[in-house]
Amino acid sequence: NEVLLQVKNLTVEYVQPAPEPGVVACRDLTFDLHRGEILGVAGESGCGKSTLITALTRLQRMPAVTTGGEIWLHRDGGQPADLVQLSERALRRLRWSEIAIVMQSAMDALNPVMRLGAQFADALREHHRDMSKKAAWARAAELVAMVGISPDRLRAYPHELSGGMRQRASIALALACEPSLVVMDEPTTAVDVVMQRQILSQVLQMRERLGFAVVFVTHDLSLLLELADRIAIMYAGRVVEMGAARDLYSNPQHPYTRGLRDSFPPLFAPRQELHGIPGTPPSLSSPPPGCAFHPRCTRRFEPCDDRTPLLVPSGGGHVACHLHSTAGIDAGPVPEEMS
Ligand code: SF4
Ligand code: MG
Repeated sequence: NEVLLQVKNLTVEYVQPAPEPGVVACRDLTFDLHRGEILGVAGESGCGKSTLITALTRLQRMPAVTTGGEIWLHRDGGQPADLVQLSERALRRLRWSEIAIVMQSAMDALNPVMRLGAQFADALREHHRDMSKKAAWARAAELVAMVGISPDRLRAYPHELSGGMRQRASIALALACEPSLVVMDEPTTAVDVVMQRQILSQVLQMRERLGFAVVFVTHDLSLLLELADRIAIMYAGRVVEMGAARDLYSNPQHPYTRGLRDSFPPLFAPRQELHGIPGTPPSLSSPPPGCAFHPRCTRRFEPCDDRTPLLVPSGGGHVACHLHSTAGIDAGPVPEEMS
């Protein structure tokens, strides 16, 4: 399967006034995303997953700064582009047409004083200059129908729709210009469980029809097990495990992944204690040395509190844990960027 996005050594920091050191929210992230693939990113509140989303879409604002790495987007029939280096103008051309975003709150995406249909028509005609108003409304009707919204609702204002319907409308709107990548940050946290299920199955159906890839960020690993092809687990700004959704569930390799899987009910509050894992995630401004998970890990052993485990291939996926990377232990002093 063709590669759509290549993220290489991406590092994002929250810069602080000198002499305070920056807070590293994403450290050295490297992964590929294939066309049509759904990659889930899971972790507790404050692990850097939302920062990853804003970095991928280049929507981050000061004090968040991408301080290292590359994000290569391979466009259909075009030259690959490094999103980190693109100008604001070039980025604007890619947004919505190549990369679309669905945020936690639909209200951030929808204009409260415009009828739903007019918002679709605007988005469509912005990218298809020669599309008539009539054709745009007809396409809008098709799009909302895909997420189970009756076309007559296109005449409604956002506040006249239920929360679940608004969220589904914002997903349909994100797909209006047929992007190759849709980035979603906890898009179902504001809706009930039944609606959540419905939205996820609609995302899967639309992916079948339109073929876009998804990066889907959530604190709720159980949700990703149904939705994602692959899952990355983040902890304290790093990816600590990555693999096929099935494998990650049936055979988690990292003790943190195991704890997340065994945590029921799913987390809804930040820094809540996990059922399977005592303690709370570390602050990104002062992560523990070595493996950042070591203060909470029941499997910790000699190298864990002063050596940072590297993400290495293991059991079909990748894991960063000394239990699975004995090679890393004997590799001598920790490279400076890792300490
Ligand atoms: Fe636990 Fe050590 Fe593995 Fe970290 S490296 S998860 S502390 S066993
Ligand atoms: Mg978040």
